Amino acid sequence: MKKHDIILLAVIVIVLLPIAIFLLNTGKGATAVVKSDGKVIDTLSLNKNGTYTYKNDNGYNIVEVTDGKVRVIEADCPNQDCVNKGYIKRNNESVICLPHKFEVTIKSKDNEYDVIQ
Ligand SMILES: [Zn+2]
Repeated sequence: MKKHDIILLAVIVIVLLPIAIFLLNTGKGATAVVKSDGKVIDTLSLNKNGTYTYKNDNGYNIVEVTDGKVRVIEADCPNQDCVNKGYIKRNNESVICLPHKFEVTIKSKDNEYDVIQ
């Protein structure tokens, strides 16, 4: 590789990388709204992987965010419906734990993408 090719490559990376990061961040604006007893208690960004534990008077639910998807990985409810539901990722999709009055709902900011499913 010639010297000026390396400089050109460096310029391309320096200029394009921030643009690419910017586009990735704005393109995935989805969040998961966590509700307990009908009240919003937390809002999770789906861009960030993590595990979150929520407790209320009825019991606990452990919510996991992985690569833009959300699921309840563990709960002490009797029916385990929320755990069995598995991953959700589409706008307005929710995991509901009726015994705990606990709910996680996906809220995408980019509503135009929801038409294509
Ligand atoms: Zn449950």
